Amino acid sequence: MLRFAPSPTGDMHIGNLRAAIFNYIIARQNNEKFLIRIEDTDQERNQEGKDKDILYTLTLFGLMWDQLVYQSENIHYHHKIAEHLIKEKKAFYCFCTEEFLEQKRKEAKECKRAFRYKEEWKEIHKSSNPYPVVRLHGAQNDLSYYDKIKGNLVFKKEEIESFVILRKDKSPTYNFACAVDDMLYDISMIIRGEDHTTNTPKQILVHQAMEYPKKIEFAHIPIILNEEGKKMSKREQSSSVKWLLEQGFLPQAISNYLIAMGNNTPTEVFTLQESIAWFNIEHISKSPVKFDIKRLKFLNREHFKRIHDTDLALMLGYKDASIGLLAKFYLQESSTLNEIQEAIDLIFGQKNMDNENFINFKKDALLLQQHIHQIIAEKHPCLSHFDDFKKELMNRSLLSGKKFFKPLRILLTGRTEGPEISDLYPLIWCFLKDITQIKETH
Ligand code: GLU
Repeated sequence: MLRFAPSPTGDMHIGNLRAAIFNYIIARQNNEKFLIRIEDTDQERNQEGKDKDILYTLTLFGLMWDQLVYQSENIHYHHKIAEHLIKEKKAFYCFCTEEFLEQKRKEAKECKRAFRYKEEWKEIHKSSNPYPVVRLHGAQNDLSYYDKIKGNLVFKKEEIESFVILRKDKSPTYNFACAVDDMLYDISMIIRGEDHTTNTPKQILVHQAMEYPKKIEFAHIPIILNEEGKKMSKREQSSSVKWLLEQGFLPQAISNYLIAMGNNTPTEVFTLQESIAWFNIEHISKSPVKFDIKRLKFLNREHFKRIHDTDLALMLGYKDASIGLLAKFYLQESSTLNEIQEAIDLIFGQKNMDNENFINFKKDALLLQQHIHQIIAEKHPCLSHFDDFKKELMNRSLLSGKKFFKPLRILLTGRTEGPEISDLYPLIWCFLKDITQIKETH
């Protein structure tokens, strides 16, 4: 089984989504189940409703799970296993007070050496501290594991000290709960962000202490950098999946982008389902990659082109398939659904000629509108060809040059700039009456 294990502590970061996608793909490739495990054991950091948000996001991306579990449901197993480890002398109670450890940390810092927990301290505060934590014995030997992206990683035994598995309130720590659950659910491969690389030896230590026979595989995905080359923080808008969706990036374009990042793909534009045929986690580059919104915009446009005209029209709130075609025409200057929506709504909205950018063209626009409506009423044969229509309208209005084109553009598109009217006209002439409505003002 593969798993994605989000903590319900905030909005989903694109790095998390990338891990979810990779786990999903590999589950499908290997015909294994895909588990979502909501890691909700840290009560203080949990945020109300974030679990539902995460599940909703996964659904939008088509990352359908076979099983869903909230980690807190397994706490009795965490406790049982901790008891077992204490009995087996693989784990022990540590009575050190937080103040004591803080003091030791301070001393280490002052002496400029790394802080290391020492087991000899464990009973110093036995009589005065009724709330011990439980620690697992640290590594006796150096520990290494093979990472499918980073290769062989070696950790010195001194780096893996005895660590807390149950806090003083008996709640399991992340490393312990995670390691136990990965055994309970028979996880075969763990794919997650590289910020977890140093947690992995601790989790392996839990597996070893339980004499778990299965060898779990690991892949740690490099972090995503922002355009300045720094780690993309949660506070940066474009790192939030929710923000990208709100801007009108398509889920299929976002997953295309996240799969292609630091990867060599057989095609540039593909769907998640298509990538199942060729995706190979070992081809993901081990160096971090910069987030490139221009590239994402390009892929978004490409995925818009793949959407059926009727569906695209519906996405924009219109029933006529030809609006889908019109939307695709606007991809020459728009990349997101919001940008396309804005352009289309301006075309179909009433034109407010009192707008300060339009006011100078108001008189001519009114004149053109009158003639256009006359031409429509006559069902004049010029209507279906822009050149004929233009000539006819110029003849009737006696306008030409800028005095003709600017007000015409405003009447047709609600803007003073934009794509060539001659290219646009074939896509809108059948709606001419509707789109040349001017807002009445007093
Ligand atoms: N809850 C952890 C996180 O969101 C899970 C890491 C893991 O996949 O083990 O970072």
